Amino acid sequence: MISVKEAKSIIQGQIFHLDSEVVPLDKSRGRILHEDVLAKFPSPRFNNSAMDGFAVRSSDTIGASKDNPITLNNIGISSAGVPSDLVLNEGDCIQCMTGAKIPSGSDAVIMVEDTDGFSDNDNVQVMIEAQPGKHIRLKGEEINKGDILISKRTLITASEIGVCATFGYGELNVSKKPRIAIFGTGNELVEPGNSIKEGEIYNSNLYVFSDLVGNAGGEVLMQDVLKDNKAYLKSFLSEALESCDVVISSGGVSMGRFDYVRDVFIELGVKEHFWKVAQKPGRPLFFGTGNKTLIFGLPGNPVSSYIGFMVWVWPILNEMVGTDTLNSIQGELTESFPVENIKYRYLFGKVWTENGKVLCKPSKKIGSHMLTSSLDANCILGAEPSDKKLNPGDSILVNLLPWKTIE
Ligand code: AMP
Ligand code: MG
Repeated sequence: MISVKEAKSIIQGQIFHLDSEVVPLDKSRGRILHEDVLAKFPSPRFNNSAMDGFAVRSSDTIGASKDNPITLNNIGISSAGVPSDLVLNEGDCIQCMTGAKIPSGSDAVIMVEDTDGFSDNDNVQVMIEAQPGKHIRLKGEEINKGDILISKRTLITASEIGVCATFGYGELNVSKKPRIAIFGTGNELVEPGNSIKEGEIYNSNLYVFSDLVGNAGGEVLMQDVLKDNKAYLKSFLSEALESCDVVISSGGVSMGRFDYVRDVFIELGVKEHFWKVAQKPGRPLFFGTGNKTLIFGLPGNPVSSYIGFMVWVWPILNEMVGTDTLNSIQGELTESFPVENIKYRYLFGKVWTENGKVLCKPSKKIGSHMLTSSLDANCILGAEPSDKKLNPGDSILVNLLPWKTIE
C-alpha cells in the first residue's frame, strides 16, 4: 500500500497530452483552446456611431438648444453595412445609424431624439450642442490588432465562442477529447429501469462515470456492465486498450474471489504501477498503463467510485487536454471530521461562506455504499492521515466540485 502522495507522483510520471484538432466554432463548446487566439483586426474596425442620429461637425452645433435650434444640411445616409463616402463640409450633416461608419469630416454624432428627426428633407434642426467625439466608438478602443483575445488552455464557453465569432474565426484549434472506456463488473448488477431480484443491485457507477467523463470534456467510446467472468473482461478490455486513451473500471478490483479485473489487466500486458493506496474510501485502486492507455481500476462501492473518479481520474483528464478545473481551498470545519491513522480520508461535504469565513462540514452519511451522501455535497473534504482528530474550528482541505456552487 502506498501513500496518496506517492500514488499521485507515479501517475504524474505517466500522463501524456493529447494532440489538437480543428473544430467548427459552433462545435467548440466545452473544449480547451490549444493555442492563443489573436485579434485579427482592431475592434472596432473603424470609427462608427453608437447611436441612430446625425454625424456632424461639432463646431457647427455650438449654441444649439431646443429654444435655439441650428439648421444643418442633410447630405446623405451612412448605415450599418453601407458606409457613405461623402465628406462633411461646414454646415453639413449625414444621417448615421448605429454601427455605421462615421463619414469623413464628422467628429460627433447627435442622437435623432435631439433633432427634428430623419427625413428626406434637405434641412435638419439640431437642438443640442455636440461635444467632439460624442457617440463615436473609436477604432481599436476595445482591442488592438494582434493582441491576445483568449489564451490557450481556456475552456470554451459562450463568451469565448461569441468573441471568436466577433473576430471572424469560423473554427478553432482545440485539444482532442480523451477517448474513454468505462465498465462495471458484478454478477449482481442490473440496469436501472428493469425489475430487480433478491441479491441484485442497480448499476449506478457507470451512470456517474459517464456523466463525469462528459463533464470533464472526454468522450465515452466504450461502455459496458460485465459479469464477473474473465472471458468477458478480456474481450472488452483488449478492445479498450486498442482504441482508448483512458480505461476506467468500477468494481472487481479488490480481494473478493470473483475480483478478476486486476488479473485480466495483467494478463493483457498492462503494466501495474500500484494497486492499493492508503486512502478511505477506496483502498483498492489499480493504476496501470498499456501501450498508449492509462488504466484506473476503481473499487465498486458507489462513494469510493465517485470520489475515486474525482480525486484520481478527473485531474488527469484535465491535464491531458491542458486545463485545470479542480480548485482546492482551505475551509474551517463546523463539525468534527473522522481522520484516519494511516489512510488519507475523503468525504463528500458541504462548503459555504459566512461572515467572510469559508466554513464546511462532512456529510453525516459516511459509509462508502451511501451514494445519497453526494446529493447535498458541493465538495470533497480531504484530511491527511493523523492520530489527531479534526475538531470544529480546525482547517481542512476542500476540493470544490466544479459544477456546484457555494452559497
Ligand atoms: P466490488 O468492488 O466489486 O467488490 O464491489 C463493492 C460493492 O460495490 C459491492 O456491494 C457491489 O455490489 C457494489 N458495486 C459494484 N459495482 C457497482 C456499480 N456499477 N454500481 C453500483 N454498485 C456497484
Ligand atoms: Mg464485484
